[in-house]
Amino acid sequence: MGSSASKKRILILGGGFGGVATARHLDRLFRRRPDIEIVLVSRDNFLLMTPLLFEVFSGALDLRSCTFPIRAFLRTTRFVEATVQCIDLDRHVVRLAAAGESKELAYDQLVLALGSKTNRERTPGSEHAFTFKTLADALLLRNHVIERFERADVETDPQRKAQLLTFVVIGGGLVGVELTPIGSALLGFGFLALGSIGRDLEHPFDNSVHDVAMTSICRTIEINLKQYLGEADLPPPIEPVRGVLW
Ligand SMILES: Cc1cc2nc3c(=O)[nH]c(=O)nc-3n(C[C@H](O)[C@H](O)[C@H](O)COP(=O)(O)OP(=O)(O)OC[C@H]3O[C@@H](n4cnc5c(N)ncnc54)[C@H](O)[C@@H]3O)c2cc1C
Repeated sequence: MGSSASKKRILILGGGFGGVATARHLDRLFRRRPDIEIVLVSRDNFLLMTPLLFEVFSGALDLRSCTFPIRAFLRTTRFVEATVQCIDLDRHVVRLAAAGESKELAYDQLVLALGSKTNRERTPGSEHAFTFKTLADALLLRNHVIERFERADVETDPQRKAQLLTFVVIGGGLVGVELTPIGSALLGFGFLALGSIGRDLEHPFDNSVHDVAMTSICRTIEINLKQYLGEADLPPPIEPVRGVLW
């Protein structure tokens, strides 16, 4: 699908916070410019409120409470639900896939807002771990934890039972710090937090707030800071435990 000669097309890839905010801004900027067309392409037709993902995992919120239809944020911008397969910078076209079909969309100006992906390159074995970025991740993890509960309930070997109920969170950034106590509360006992390569837990708070939070977290959870997880660390704990979050 080419952009017409009379209209310049601005194509935004990614319907997260960055892509939707850009589309809204351009909507306002070019609302009196019929010669400009704005198109937003994203894999899902909803905007995910990532800060609420923890509550989806814990079950405190249902799905509708943390997702909002992207089209409701847009005025003149056209939304296309599709997966971006590749970008041809020379020809100014993007290849899209949707419902088993593939097609090209031309652009004059391109905005990339496709987000980031979890880095699994650094530590072999980390591909066995769960990630926590998308709605699907939160639901998968929730179902996995519940399933592990069920397995543990009928397990008679105490060591195996303990393994089934041990979870390791790798990474002491904001997601790791928030996920660990929520997981712990959900389980009623220990998530085991391993984390933060070479530094303290990250936090945006005043130090006094941080100290209170840390004291409360440390009551129920084991925290190992400044510990780098190398290749040698991964196979024994991950393979039998299979409850690792990256
Ligand atoms: C659990 C969690 C909690 C967070 N809490 C906070 C918080 O409290 N405060 C804060 O400031 N930040 C928080 N963040 C970080 C924040 O969510 C990110 O910084 C922000 O989402 C980045 O926005 P983005 O638009 O760059 O990418 P994203 O929000 O990741 O959006 C990328 C979009 O592109 C789409 N996409 C990706 N690849 C393709 C493709 N090939 N084809 C089509 N579409 C594609 C994705 O589906 C997605 O819609 C949190 C993140 C997580 C994971």
